Amino acid sequence: MSVASTLEDIRSKEHDIDKYLYLRNLQRQREPEFYSLLVQHTEEILPYVYTPTVGEACQRYHHLPLVPRGLYLDAGSKDDFLALMRAWPQQEVRHAHFEDHMQIQTWVVVVTDGERILGLGDLGTGGMGIAEGKILLYTAAAGVDPRVCLPVFLDVGTNNESLLKDPLYKGIRKPRLRGGAYHEVVANFMAALRQWQPHVLVQFEDFANHNAFELLNEYRANACVFNDDIQGTACITLAGLLSALRATGKSLTEQRILFYGAGEAGTGIAELIAIALERRHGLTREEARQHCLFMDSKGLVCASRTDLQPHKLPFAHDHPFQRGLLDAVNTFRPTALIGVSAVKNAFTPDVVQAMSSINERPIIFPLSNPTSKAECTFEEAFKGSAGSVLFASGSPFPPINTDGVTQHAAQANNAYVFPAIGFAAVLTRASTISDEVFLAAAEMLSHMTTLEELSRGIIFPRFSAIQTVSASLTAAVAEQMVRAGEGKGPPRPAGQSAWEAYVRSKMFKVPLQSKL
Ligand code: NAP
Ligand code: MN
Repeated sequence: MSVASTLEDIRSKEHDIDKYLYLRNLQRQREPEFYSLLVQHTEEILPYVYTPTVGEACQRYHHLPLVPRGLYLDAGSKDDFLALMRAWPQQEVRHAHFEDHMQIQTWVVVVTDGERILGLGDLGTGGMGIAEGKILLYTAAAGVDPRVCLPVFLDVGTNNESLLKDPLYKGIRKPRLRGGAYHEVVANFMAALRQWQPHVLVQFEDFANHNAFELLNEYRANACVFNDDIQGTACITLAGLLSALRATGKSLTEQRILFYGAGEAGTGIAELIAIALERRHGLTREEARQHCLFMDSKGLVCASRTDLQPHKLPFAHDHPFQRGLLDAVNTFRPTALIGVSAVKNAFTPDVVQAMSSINERPIIFPLSNPTSKAECTFEEAFKGSAGSVLFASGSPFPPINTDGVTQHAAQANNAYVFPAIGFAAVLTRASTISDEVFLAAAEMLSHMTTLEELSRGIIFPRFSAIQTVSASLTAAVAEQMVRAGEGKGPPRPAGQSAWEAYVRSKMFKVPLQSKL
């Protein structure tokens, strides 16, 4: 069948979940065609293999007629992880991305334990769907060879009562491992990976925040790992903020940023902003953190609180406690308001109005996903600010026509950045991924729109141009990795355009020459 007729087949299916199932089957049975479709029609296909459809697929994973694709590792087999990895059917990948003489591969692994899938919570082994969906972005957006991409699910149990009672549930029917026993499973996994392949990039995905920060801190110094929920989100949001600042003509040092929600996304973003202020503007990290203030489910995160988890402490400043968001806005007088709480309608008309009376161009980013969790809609922010808002959201919103001009809602999609960063790590066989990488990627992305586009709300380049965007970002990041010594090869091409040409030459091409 041709790609065109397959596309027609998919379009003719009424329900998104049927398109998802069709595509999974296609991937299993006619893999080259699946990847052709994914790479050539990324914008159309992605919503069915990834968010939003993948959310429903994870919830119904055990009831859907599908064959899991990823590597399933259960805590009970923790001493056999290496053997299980070695049994994984490897294909001829020797030459993927590399010169013939470089026979060492870097694998890309997306791993989850299913505890905080999107905004949907603990979905047990249904979380495999997220690892399987997210890994496709590496190929679709950045051109990583799918033969070196491996989704992994670490089964440490589930606390989801309805799954525990579900006769069709296939995962471990026990409460989640915690503490030392949990960390031992992850440590065995990381050690086995290292023995299995000399070079692996590991993306931690959708771990609950009590584990996510710890795991990242535990492994980031000595392994090529990152957490997309923390660092990928930080990167895309900083890019959006820097892009919005080009429209206001203001500097990052003039910003006061209020976060509604103090979890993985929020504190990750704030820390990268602090790093930008430190490295690019000469502030100390402590001074820089003063530019960011948080609210959590109990109110303002401030020094007088005694109930704060470790990740909030660096941002617990000497401010009087406020219970409500409007009071916090009126006292802190933020230039930017970022929603990462998954609380629908939290940015009320009063809050939007207060932001616009404080700022000529208020920056309002309701990032919570899915759409039903967004702190406000584009229309609410646009109307409430009389059109002055600089807006980006996690989920897409339709454009608004006003005075003959179409104003766009920018979507802060992590997929603009993490596949490119991953591909750079693959190409340079990076040993670690530093903060500087996320900073460099954010800065570069923030300059990929024109001032005219910014005036129409286009803060990020069009997603349909994702492969071009990724090639540029991959080149910039790879250069940065090699310069910093964390990336080793290839022999260094000189300058951005030489790197870009190199990256393009290594991007996965469809249709595949060899059989997958
Ligand atoms: P998380 O780690 O669970 O954090 C959620 C935070 O929201 C917590 O600090 C929580 O407070 C706070 N919160 C809950 N109810 C609240 C309320 N009523 N008022 C104020 N704060 C409240 O989750 P996360 O990973 O940061 O993700 C948060 C949201 O961001 C999700 O909807 C996710 O989809 C979205 N997100 C978007 C992007 C993107 O657009 N690119 C990327 C990543 C995440 P406590 O700490 O007191 O519990
Ligand atoms: Mn995630």
